[in-house]
Amino acid sequence: MSDRPQTPAGTSGAAVPPPGTQPAPAASPSGPTAPADPPAAGAPALAAHAIGMGQVLDHVRAPEEVPRPAIVAFRHVTKTYNAGQANAFTAIRDVTFVVEDLVDKGEFVCVLGPSGCGKSTILRLIAGLAPQHPATSGEVLVQGRPVQGPGADRGMVFQDYTSFDHRTVLENVTFGLECQGMPRRQRFELGREWIAKVGLNVAKDQNKFPHELSGGMRQRVAIARTLILRPRIILMDEPFGALDPNTRCNMQDLLIRLWKEVQATVFFITHSIEEAVFLGDRVYLMSNSPGTIIEEMKIEPPDRPAHEMLGVPRFLDTVHYIRDKITQLEVT
Ligand code: ADP
Repeated sequence: MSDRPQTPAGTSGAAVPPPGTQPAPAASPSGPTAPADPPAAGAPALAAHAIGMGQVLDHVRAPEEVPRPAIVAFRHVTKTYNAGQANAFTAIRDVTFVVEDLVDKGEFVCVLGPSGCGKSTILRLIAGLAPQHPATSGEVLVQGRPVQGPGADRGMVFQDYTSFDHRTVLENVTFGLECQGMPRRQRFELGREWIAKVGLNVAKDQNKFPHELSGGMRQRVAIARTLILRPRIILMDEPFGALDPNTRCNMQDLLIRLWKEVQATVFFITHSIEEAVFLGDRVYLMSNSPGTIIEEMKIEPPDRPAHEMLGVPRFLDTVHYIRDKITQLEVT
């Protein structure tokens, strides 16, 4: 796992500010063409074009191109909602990509693209959730096997606060363990550990109900409820989108720390390009609807806290390059 710096906890400066608060874009610099990840035997050679801290691959890698086993692979996946009916709508078309299974590491993958391009559709296909699952055509593979439905190997955190209203924090956090049949004493013990890990106060918060919590606290509960189950893949659909900038900054910091601990592959949808470039080891950029992945970037880990990265020209070059691309997509 990349050794990313952590946002200083409790600082009031936003580590990754909301869009629109950055300096005016500089011209995107062109870097040299450099070798990217080694291709698998027989696969087409990959070249990458350096843009600040990012390496834009010359094409989006297909499953057969990577040397290591894949944790997630899409092959020519299309999803048409209401297929065969008058209101049929194709949300994603011919989506092909691969995320390698980096043992004991896990990659942090961010998905960016115009609104409505199919980001959530892709995430929910990986999760195996209807009506996105099953795909209309193509293959969705997790650890080499076709997705048949939801599974304990995949955990999801949504933007909406998804706790059970009538359950306490402790009961919410341990819900999945209860479903697995873990005895009450054991699951509550583990639940309290996770309540502390996500930065809540066990004594004060464990018996509260969701309506007694702030938005940030509720997302901490959602993260604890997901990570306590130790999924191999964590699917996050704009988890911090509804939070204020300072809370968002603290949650990014928390997520990086917990991600290092659980060593999972993370799929993270966000509208914040800064958030994607700071958090992501890899960024996928999607086209307009019907969405497909048009660009894959490998991102170098930042070498200082996020609020400092905002002053680093190479970080900003990558952000501005992606912003220009998305702006172009939005006007076409
Ligand atoms: P994004 O996450 O990029 O905003 P989504 O994956 O949520 O995009 O949606 C992609 C497109 O598919 C949108 O136009 C959306 O309205 C449509 N869509 C999503 N879910 C459904 C559904 N259950 N039935 C019909 N259309 C849907």
